[in-house]
Order: sequence, then structure tokens, then C-alpha cells
Amino acid sequence: MNTQEILTKAKNEGWALGAFNAGNLEIAKAIVQAAQSQQAPVIMETSAGELEHFGLKNFLSLVENYRQDLSLNVLTNLDHGPGLEECQAAIEGGYNLVHFDGSSLPYEENVKITKALVEQAHQKGVLIEAEMDKILGDSKNHAELPESTQASANYTDPQKAAEFVAQTGCDILAIFIGNLHGTYQQSPRLDLERLKLITEKVPCFFSLHGGSGLLEEDVKKAIQIGPIVKVNVNTELRLAYRNTLENVLKGSDEIAVYKIMPPVVAAIQKVVEEKIQLFGSQQKSLNLNNS
Ligand SMILES: [Zn+2]
Repeated sequence: MNTQEILTKAKNEGWALGAFNAGNLEIAKAIVQAAQSQQAPVIMETSAGELEHFGLKNFLSLVENYRQDLSLNVLTNLDHGPGLEECQAAIEGGYNLVHFDGSSLPYEENVKITKALVEQAHQKGVLIEAEMDKILGDSKNHAELPESTQASANYTDPQKAAEFVAQTGCDILAIFIGNLHGTYQQSPRLDLERLKLITEKVPCFFSLHGGSGLLEEDVKKAIQIGPIVKVNVNTELRLAYRNTLENVLKGSDEIAVYKIMPPVVAAIQKVVEEKIQLFGSQQKSLNLNNS
């Protein structure tokens, strides 16, 4: 099945793929092991920074090796591609999905670049995710939520989103309905009423960024209400990596990396498995491979 078909199946059946950021080999390994144990299709993604660290060819080759060895549905995504050139390189390089984040640009400029990328991507069977309303926060552990009044003023407007999608032809829209990047002492709440209104007006797939630290009930309901086929998770993986590594190093004078890393991989794998179950994508790989 191609990317479009997998996302369509997810939409029709009311589940979502986890989009997990892989900044290095150990994180990639954890994601793949979780996908395998859960028999779940997953999206493995790199931000621009993670991509630079990993190397485009190395990242894509690694994913290809896993696909062949384990018969897994692993789609690749460039997460928050910052500009035309970076996104074009990902399309030409062989990513399955490319997210162009033009939310900081003037509207017309965002439309122009997104539209150009959609035209180029579709010739290669690549899907484009677009963003018009900046999703606040960043992939860190935060103490305080941003001022809620300030944030909700920037939530996705159904009518404007419909116009943006019609103008650009994007495949996936990154919606902003209270989801924030990063984790917070108090979980941000999703505006599910707004999601209903956006769903009525906007015909494309949706992605939900900020999948770390949201309330489980909100995420489940959101996937049922709207065509959310992709939920991004980064911060919880980074925290599992760092916290576990610190603990391992504290209790040992081991210097062989391959002996230090297994508990780190296991901790990240556990987070990914829990997210897969929350998004309802467990056991969906068999289903994709047989149909
Ligand atoms: Zn994001």
C-alpha cells in the first residue's frame, strides 16, 4: 500500500499513525522494535536538526533496511521543514511525507511555497503536510502553560483553513486546537468543538502535533472526531532517552556503548508502544500487508 492508501485506511477506520522523531540510531531502533512488537505502521521522522545530525542518506537507508528485514510499514517524514530547499531535498531524496512549516511566513508566501511543493511532491507520490497556524511551544519539558487566552486566539479557524487547503492542495493540515509542543506540569486541553467545525469544512487529512503530554482521553476523542491520521511525538522520547541514560551512567563505569544503550532503547520503546496503543494503530500492519 502506498502512503495515501495507508492514511486513507487509518482515516476510514478511526486510528492514527504515531509520527516519532528519530535523532539517532538508538531512537530509530526503539521505534522499529515498538512497531514490530505492536505490529503497527509508524512514521519515523526527522526535524531539520535531527536530519543534519543523522544525514539524509543514512536515515533513509536505515529505514529501508528495517522495512526489508522486518516487513514493517515505516513511512518517513521531514518534520517542520523550514524552507523550500530543505523540503525539495527531502522530496527528491525519497521521504514519503514532507511537512513544510510556513506558519511564520506571510500568508501569501506560505501558500505559494506550499503549492509549489505539492506540485513537485505529487509527481513522486510524496504527500505534503502544511501549517498555517503556528503550533506553540517547543519539544522540551516546560513548567508553565502559555497564557491560554493568548494561545486560543491563534487556534485554527475552520473557514480560513478551508481556504488555505483549497489554495494549496496540501494533503495534511497541521491543526492547532490547544495542542502544544513539549510537556507541561498541567496537560494542555484540546478544543474538540473546534475540531468538529474544522472537520466539517476541511476535506484533507489532519495531523496533531504535540502528542507528548496531552491527556489520553482528549487524544482518543480527537482521533474519533476528525481525520487525524498522524500524531507527532518527540519530547517524551527525548526525556526517556536522557533520563535513562543519566541513570545508567550514574550506576556504572561501563564504557562500551553497546552495553550502555539497551536500557535506553528499552525505555524509548516502551513510550512508543504506549503511544501506538493510544492512537489505535496496534495490529494494523497485518491488515495493511494483506489487503
Ligand atoms: Zn510539531
